[in-house]
Formats: sequence, structure tokens, C-alpha cells
Amino acid sequence: MKTKIQELFKKMYGDGASFFASPGRVNLIGEHTDYNLGFVLPGAIDKAIYVGVKPNDGQKCRIHSVDYDQSIEMDLHGEKPAQQWARYIYGVVQEMEKRGALIRPFDMTFGGDVPLGAGLSSSAALESAVGFALNTVYNLGFSREQLAKIGQMTEHNYVGVRCGIMDQFASLFGDHGKVIRLDCRSLEYKLEPFDPTGCKVVLFDTQVKHSLASSEYNVRRAQCEAGVAVILKHVGGIESLRDVTLEMLNTYKNEMDDVVYRRCSFVINENQRVLDACDALEKGDYATFGEKMNGSHDGLSKWYEVSCEELDFLADLGHRNSGVLGARMMGGGFGGCTINLVRDAAYADYLAEVTDKFTHRFGKAPRIIEVNISQGAHQIR
Ligand code: ADP
Ligand code: MG
Repeated sequence: MKTKIQELFKKMYGDGASFFASPGRVNLIGEHTDYNLGFVLPGAIDKAIYVGVKPNDGQKCRIHSVDYDQSIEMDLHGEKPAQQWARYIYGVVQEMEKRGALIRPFDMTFGGDVPLGAGLSSSAALESAVGFALNTVYNLGFSREQLAKIGQMTEHNYVGVRCGIMDQFASLFGDHGKVIRLDCRSLEYKLEPFDPTGCKVVLFDTQVKHSLASSEYNVRRAQCEAGVAVILKHVGGIESLRDVTLEMLNTYKNEMDDVVYRRCSFVINENQRVLDACDALEKGDYATFGEKMNGSHDGLSKWYEVSCEELDFLADLGHRNSGVLGARMMGGGFGGCTINLVRDAAYADYLAEVTDKFTHRFGKAPRIIEVNISQGAHQIR
């Protein structure tokens, strides 16, 4: 893909471009903790968006999307473009200019191998690649953290997706053999070692998206807020479930709906699981790390109730197999992928088993996506 972008740029717009890549991401553990201002543990993957860019002398940008095989001319200060993919680029430029940058028209080709809409955040890869590229070429001086915010605000303001900042953070700060413990309140982060020698990280994409996803997401957020409101009547200084302990929750349990209690209890436990999982990584203890992943799935399924039949089926296969260290649903729920940590020795047989059993049960094989934890946004020489 990288070479294809380079060759195509040369053919379409000539020599002299600079090339950049920014990856998609997985989240190892920490689900529904972000909006409760807790912790997540994403890592960048070896699938990325590649961008070639060079300032031009004209009045407009010329942009070619390799994967959509579309070329457009874009006025940097004109209307929002019609193509969805172009809005990410337009949005990044607007967000940069809001922060004082001056961006002249450019030529750009881009494309990638992050599967779209599979939960690997191809959109954050795109915003981060474009942001990183423009930042370097125009020497704008934005930090990686600022670029992450520019990407996030691009989604909010130009695409209409009110996402958190984890995906952009992972795409910009990721590294080989490291995952990122991100504190969603302070945005402080710590790189944790992730080198499960003898194991592979593999995703099974159910390719389903149940319609409950967005309505139930809002319900969960409201339930978490309801729990916080109860605790806040008794304990000062509580901003979110991040500040609530299980002890507090149990003390005031009788004042809340049982469903609210269950939701809050999941979030508090999940936050702790992220921290415990990080301790395990620091000790190189991948068996414990895998158990935390399994615990995360069980909590999401039984306490937070955001799983679905397909995800439970896949996680359950993993939990029963001694060659699988950890298996859990990844992302908001009601569809999408599971993420699995599988021993090399069991890998081939396990993929065959999953394909076979899932197809038998649901009539269609899951898509298998093997990933390696990899480098964040960078320039390609
Ligand atoms: P994801 O979970 O992968 O981030 P989104 O729906 O948030 O899914 O983002 C997918 C959108 O991002 C696509 O519809 C497209 O507009 C843009 N996009 C992602 N990858 C590419 C690509 N390789 N080429 C062009 N546009 C892309
Ligand atoms: Mg996205």
C-alpha cells in the first residue's frame, strides 16, 4: 500500500512529496471506562493510512483517495466537501486553522489497509495521518497531543461523531511492543510493555452491528450518571465513577436502582482490571493479563449487558480453550469484534475451530484479522 501511494502520487502530481503513515488501533482492555473518566489500554497496529502530500501553487487542493478511486479539488476555505472521506481532511485543516495555523493548498494521495468500520478506527488513522503530515510539511509545531485533539474535534465538528480521544491517542502515541495506559481524565499516559512472546493477537469480526448500539450507549451513560448522583449526595468531590470505590457503591446501594448498581459496579471493576492488567504486563505475566481480558468480557456481557449472542459465542470458545489466554468483546458492544490472545502452538487449530463453529451457528464465518502492536504516526523515508 505504501509503495502504491508513492507511485500514484508521482504519476498524478509529480515528484517532491513527503509520505506519512498513521495506524489503526486495538483496545486490549478498558471498555466503557472512557466516558467515566477512567483508564483504557489501546495499542497501535500494523495497519495504517498512508498519506503523500506536497504544497502546490494553485488556489485549491487536489486530493485522490486510492481506496475509493476518487479525485476531488477542494477549496480549503470553501464549503464542507460532499464526500465523507474528504470531510476528515477538510476538518483537520479547519481545526488546525482554528488553532492559528496557516495552511496553503496542497496535493495529496492517501489510502490504507485499516478495515473500515470494523472497530479498528480507520477514521482516527486517517485524521492522525493527515494531521501528522500537514504538521510536518508546513512545520506547524503542534504536539502529538494537540494533533489527537484536532482529530477528535474533526470527528465532532465535521463528521458528526462525538468520539472520545483514545483512538487518536493510540494512532499518534503507539509504539512497537508497547500499549498505552491512558488516563481519560488527565490525558496522562504511560507506555506499558506488550510483548507476549509465543502468542498472537487476533480479532474475530462478527460483521454484525445490532441496532441497539447507539440507543443503549446513551442509556448506559445516563445510568452511570445516576449512580454518581446517588454517591454525590453523601460523598464530596465525586466527578465520575472514576472517583467511586466499590465500598462506596455498596454502602449506598439501597438508594439506587439495581440496574444502576450493576452498571456502576461493572465500570468500577473494569477500571481496576485495566490497572491490574498493567501490573501483569510489567511483570510479563500474560496469563494474568488474559484472565483480566476474560473478566472484562464477562462483566460487559452480564453486568453491563452490551454484548450479543455472536460476541458471547466467540468469547466463550476462547474461555474454554487452554490455548487462548484471553478473549473479550472489543468496543462499545452489540456487534463488532472480539480480541483474543492466542498461543502460537494453538493458533492454527483455534482459527479453524472458530471458523467452523461460528459458521455452523450463525451461517457465516467471522472475518479474521491478525494484528501486531506497532509504531504510531511517522514519516516514511
Ligand atoms: P472506523 O471504526 O473504522 O473508524 P468510521 O465509520 O468511524 O469507522 O470511519 C470510516 C470512515 O473513515 C469511512 O467511511 C471513510 O470516510 C473514512 N476512511 C477510513 N479509511 C479510509 C480509507 N482507506 N480511504 C478513504 N476513507 C477512509
Ligand atoms: Mg471511527
